[in-house]
Amino acid sequence: MQTGYLIVGAGPAGTWAIKGIRQEDQAKKITIVGEQPYCAYSLPLLTKGYIQCRFKEEDLFLVEEDFYRKNGAVFLSNSKVVEADLKEKRVILDSGAEIRYEKLLIATGGRPRRLSVLNSDMEGIYYLRTLDDSKGIKAAAKTATQAIVIGGSFIGVELAVALREVGLPVKLIMLERYIWETLLPEAVGKYLMEKLIEGGVEVFPEEKVIGFEGRGGKATALRTESGKVFEGDLFGIGVGIKLNTEFLKETQVLIERGIRTNEFLETNVAGVFAAGDVAEFDDVILGEKRLVGHIENAQFQGYTAGRNMAGAGIRYSRVTAYDSAVFGIPLIFVGALESGKEFWIRGKEGKPPQGCFAVREGRVVGGVLIKPRGKEVKALKELIENKDIDISRFEEELKNPDLDLLTLVNRIKIT
Ligand SMILES: Cc1cc2nc3c(=O)[nH]c(=O)nc-3n(C[C@H](O)[C@H](O)[C@H](O)COP(=O)(O)OP(=O)(O)OC[C@H]3O[C@@H](n4cnc5c(N)ncnc54)[C@H](O)[C@@H]3O)c2cc1C
Repeated sequence: MQTGYLIVGAGPAGTWAIKGIRQEDQAKKITIVGEQPYCAYSLPLLTKGYIQCRFKEEDLFLVEEDFYRKNGAVFLSNSKVVEADLKEKRVILDSGAEIRYEKLLIATGGRPRRLSVLNSDMEGIYYLRTLDDSKGIKAAAKTATQAIVIGGSFIGVELAVALREVGLPVKLIMLERYIWETLLPEAVGKYLMEKLIEGGVEVFPEEKVIGFEGRGGKATALRTESGKVFEGDLFGIGVGIKLNTEFLKETQVLIERGIRTNEFLETNVAGVFAAGDVAEFDDVILGEKRLVGHIENAQFQGYTAGRNMAGAGIRYSRVTAYDSAVFGIPLIFVGALESGKEFWIRGKEGKPPQGCFAVREGRVVGGVLIKPRGKEVKALKELIENKDIDISRFEEELKNPDLDLLTLVNRIKIT
């Protein structure tokens, strides 16, 4: 098969690339290859309603079934790219079929990192990335009596909340001292952990899982390094992701933490682009290489990469956000919290924090807003985008939760 544009990965990034290509080029053939049987769907909704039966399967899809056809794209579902030859501009599918292309986008995202401990291949241990993974968890939750979740970051926390919301007793085991420890200051992380506990999740910080125990191949307990044993019949693991780049191993494309791209989302191989979770891109706003695991980032990167594949030459320049929730308390993680050198906590002594700002050299580079009001998310994005203002002298005002963030940011911009 021969195509003008080839997109590998039919998730949010790959699918949004079709929109980008078609904005610039209405003629050339597009082919999109996806390993799963589905068109692009929302992974965020898996933990924010699908497992809890608040959403049906059909509510998850991000595009109509005929989106690909309507945009003149051939969608090859249930097909995995297993090999690539970027010099010859061709890829091989698991069926053995070959596709030749002119421009290529890699949008293959990631899969859950496996916990490599004793008996971790037993039945009853679940990972969560895909719709099929969540179907497995949903089915298991119907008969389970005790859920044990491992991991104190996004997937672990959200899965613990989802399983609690379906009525299961849940224990959360994590290496961290408090949830989201790698992103949040202690006061904010501990406050959110309290909310998790108030919602009925039992939390066990600073516990390292060393293995599972079970009967007849089914896990019935896990053991931690400190000697504790946690009995359960549904084990959910959320300990990070591994990027899907294996099919590129014989190629010259540069892979560091992710597939390296410039600010146009093009890799070191001309005509080969990467977008979404798999791309480690030059962030022109923060001036650093970044790997971002947000759906908003995936969609906008896919769209920009698509336009650039068709010759638009646009820099990817966008502050993106990840929204999460702890038992109905909405949280928005904006920008690059991990890039801050210090945190300014938004809140008053003795009162619950309302978020925090990650600050580096007089600039806000990221932040979390707890129960954001009005246009505060937009305001925080603008603050991060605005690299020319030294915000050091606004520290006290930013920490004051009584001040509306949008009004404050508008004032900062003209001062
Ligand atoms: C449970 C869960 C909840 C989340 N919640 C949020 C949230 O609240 N907010 C937020 O911003 N983000 C959230 N995320 C993260 C967000 O979903 C990802 O950042 C986003 O899906 C990334 O999109 P992508 O297209 O880059 O990758 P993916 O969504 O991983 O899509 C990549 C696609 O490529 C396919 N693929 C992989 N390898 C191959 C191959 N060799 N050949 C063919 N196809 C291949 C995969 O099957 C997959 O369909 C969540 C993720 C999960 C798992």
